[in-house]
Amino acid sequence: MTSEPRRALVITAHPDDAEFLCGGTIARWCAEGWDVFYVVATSGDKGSHDPDMTPERLASVRQEEQCRAAEVLGVRECVFLGYPDGFLQDTPEFRGRLVREIRRFKPDLVVAWDPYRPFNHRDHRVAGQAAFDAVYPLSRSHLYYSEHLTEGLEPHRVNEVLFAGSEQPDYYVDISRFINKKIEALLCHQSQVGRAPVKELRKRVRQRAAEVGKQAGYKLAEGFRRLNWG
Ligand SMILES: [Zn+2]
Repeated sequence: MTSEPRRALVITAHPDDAEFLCGGTIARWCAEGWDVFYVVATSGDKGSHDPDMTPERLASVRQEEQCRAAEVLGVRECVFLGYPDGFLQDTPEFRGRLVREIRRFKPDLVVAWDPYRPFNHRDHRVAGQAAFDAVYPLSRSHLYYSEHLTEGLEPHRVNEVLFAGSEQPDYYVDISRFINKKIEALLCHQSQVGRAPVKELRKRVRQRAAEVGKQAGYKLAEGFRRLNWG
């Protein structure tokens, strides 16, 4: 881990993806003075088994939950793109919105779903692919989405991508001191985790972090596949 505070943009498909995937890493970065920002592509408006729930109500509940979880971790800002859950499309329009946020936040690194993980929710695959394309090559050249220049947004080069949820991690972050923050942030997502006993969730999250940690020589860790052009 670098000791220099940096800027990270975490691009996910649903409210709660960031906390499940890398809540410990985000908590650690924020504690070390990094500026961390979120872009959440969909409203997560299908994530309920409650027959009385409507997509509109769920979207608003989940946005609030995401904002609270981000606050617990120390994230500076959450951007909600509001695409419908389960129907995320890899379009020039979606990629352009990601490029806009990359040019606005100017991150040193981007965290995104590993789009090459074969068995995964389609929104995760699509969000990961679009995030990667937005980083390289789209946000780098002024000739892509040149209308951003009129908004004062210059091209921006991201030198590092951490693919989260990867089946082939090659980069690990020691989250041993941040596991409680991760769990606290996960518990903000009551519409998603509320049905399981808290004790069970704690156990599951710790177990998973211990398994990943074992691969890296840490007590508790989160793993990523890393691309670095630095
Ligand atoms: Zn998700």
